[in-house]
Amino acid sequence: MTTLLEAPPLGPLLDDIVRSHRPRQESGTVPTNIPFLAKVPFDSFGIAVATTGGEVFSSGDAHVPFSIQSISKVFTLAMALQGSSPGSLWSRVLREPSGTSFNSLVQLEVEHGIPRNPFINAGALVVTDHLMEETSDAATQLLRFATEQAGNRQAVSGMAGSGAAGPFIDEAAAASELARSSRNLALAHFLKDFGNLRRPAEAVVHNYVRQCSIMMTCVELARAGLFLANNGQGTQGTVLSRSEAKRIGSIMLTCGMYDAAGEFAYRVGLPGKSGVGGGVLVIVPGQCAICVWSPRLDAKGNSLAGTAALADLSDRTGWSVF
Ligand code: GLN
Repeated sequence: MTTLLEAPPLGPLLDDIVRSHRPRQESGTVPTNIPFLAKVPFDSFGIAVATTGGEVFSSGDAHVPFSIQSISKVFTLAMALQGSSPGSLWSRVLREPSGTSFNSLVQLEVEHGIPRNPFINAGALVVTDHLMEETSDAATQLLRFATEQAGNRQAVSGMAGSGAAGPFIDEAAAASELARSSRNLALAHFLKDFGNLRRPAEAVVHNYVRQCSIMMTCVELARAGLFLANNGQGTQGTVLSRSEAKRIGSIMLTCGMYDAAGEFAYRVGLPGKSGVGGGVLVIVPGQCAICVWSPRLDAKGNSLAGTAALADLSDRTGWSVF
């Protein structure tokens, strides 16, 4: 693998990536079940790289907060693995690619309520239910985790204040998604019917959409994801053991982009996790965490410009797990 020192200087390289990949015209889609995401300007584009050496490089709209959506699933899984009974989670959710869209119902019924992996919606609902055994407000716990890892200690005490620096939950966006959550509620009721949900379906979905509605910048997300590239060591100390961090990276590689995981591995060659807010978090083991954001999506719900930019960046730096 190419080391950071051999890669081209990162600042100018990221500026060039932004110049080349910031969308010039509206293409792709926005999620219809989250009206708030349709209002984000199509030409937004940011990128940040947080290195294991403690440096952060960024360019474009890297300091603009956006909705992390399913990128939250990486952090909730990490929190579940930190908890007192991580083993019990793995009897409730598998670690196999789904090959289906992130909110598909079909596989869940055929496979008797055991989701394929924690990064599709059904799996994340199980992880949320698992977390809610220990704290009823898993979303606020996630916000605290993300805020600490992003290095915004100041905002931890202030918590959800919208004007405050650091991550916050956009409660209005969450409420509007919740009002259109028939499909996630259906998934939760399926899980419940199969005995794989302990809390009421409505409570789990409500908490889940609040997790998805956390607003963070590319810089904050790259810093928050650094522990996955750094053997479990985060910006504030140990988050997970080396082997648990490796395992999350493996699930990102095989399941992080839903039914586009193969295509993403082919083009980018790195573990990644996307969200329908247009963000993608990517790990270069031992070297850095990268977050790119551009809101317009491809047919699988992954950022169009973001994926193209990551493919370009990995080709130009040689960063890949292959
Ligand atoms: N909140 C979104 C949903 O549940 C998250 C999906 C995603 O980012 N892929 O539909």
